[in-house]
Amino acid sequence: MTAIKFVIIGYGGMGSYHKKELMPNELVQVVGVYDISQTAQDSAREVGLKVYDSLEHVLADETVEAVLIATPNDAHKAIAIAALHAGKHVICEKPVAMNVAELDDILAVAKETGKTFMVHQNRRWDPDFLVIRDLYQTGQIGDLFQIESRVHGANGIPGDWREQAKHGGGMLLDWGVHLIDQLLWLIDSPIKQMSVDFSYILGNEVDDGFILYLTFENGIRALIEVGTTNYSQLPRWYVKGLNGAAKIEDWDLSGELVVATNKADVLAPKPIKAGVGLTKTMAPPSEEATVKHAINPIPADFLPFYQNVFDVMRHGAQPIVKNEQVRKVLQLIDDVFALVEEAK
Ligand code: NAD
Repeated sequence: MTAIKFVIIGYGGMGSYHKKELMPNELVQVVGVYDISQTAQDSAREVGLKVYDSLEHVLADETVEAVLIATPNDAHKAIAIAALHAGKHVICEKPVAMNVAELDDILAVAKETGKTFMVHQNRRWDPDFLVIRDLYQTGQIGDLFQIESRVHGANGIPGDWREQAKHGGGMLLDWGVHLIDQLLWLIDSPIKQMSVDFSYILGNEVDDGFILYLTFENGIRALIEVGTTNYSQLPRWYVKGLNGAAKIEDWDLSGELVVATNKADVLAPKPIKAGVGLTKTMAPPSEEATVKHAINPIPADFLPFYQNVFDVMRHGAQPIVKNEQVRKVLQLIDDVFALVEEAK
């Protein structure tokens, strides 16, 4: 088994995270780095990595088999196309490109050259998402009919390229792409209806958050929300099924799974005092009508990302993250931007 020789293009936050945390030594060997910033070059040298002085030199190096692109979003397309033309396989960070037209240009070159082009949609491996996927697939709380997927931060948009439209900044492209990818990978049904609300609370030129409502043809309603001005957070997930509900507070899987017992139909809820009034409608279920469980981790029933990358590049295996799925996500993002423009 020979490791795939990679060069990392863009050795900032995510490029260095791939090197330190994600790229297992026996499958992937990072032979060098190319980055336009002196600081990034210095930190690559500090960990003993070769630093290339141009993209052309990376691509001309015949020992390099693949590149990982972890630059700001607007630089992905040109680097991917140049690398594919040079006969390199390409792993690209999300969002794969600024829009579908750019992605189509990349995919045309991938097809022409026969090289692998694959996107790092890593949040398919998130433990919280794996729980939701398991609930969806096993029907433990019955058929899901409402899914709310949220991420809330309190620190605004990071003060880097993410604040600038020309670099593909904004939260729809940054976090929206993850949450949309999770949902579209989970729910195999066309979208019937959607609406969106962008926020610009901190006055940036790009969205600092948004709420997206999707209705799928199979009847599932989903809400995707990204916020960067939330000093108090709503749960990461809230999902309702015909036979229960799940609330996952955070990435640590704190939360609860509430499953209706078969007594639920016969036990009438008791009226409760609510504020200065009385309610039966808003009373909690009687104790015998539900069972509460902790949220337990679910192991992924598919390979880790770089194991799959290795199998795809070395043995022609099927990629877990497929380009047609990535394209569907980006098409939805294009449609959301169009809807926002229309509403102006
Ligand atoms: P960053 O600003 O920390 O790093 C980007 C690096 O790219 C910088 O060092 C910069 O100097 C370099 N760079 C810019 N233009 C370049 C070019 N033309 N050629 C070579 N180097 C160039 O940004 P980041 O947070 O690491 O984000 C990089 C990419 O990774 C983005 O596409 C982002 O969306 C993605 N990302 C993905 C995840 C994830 O969970 N999958 C998390 C964070 C970032």
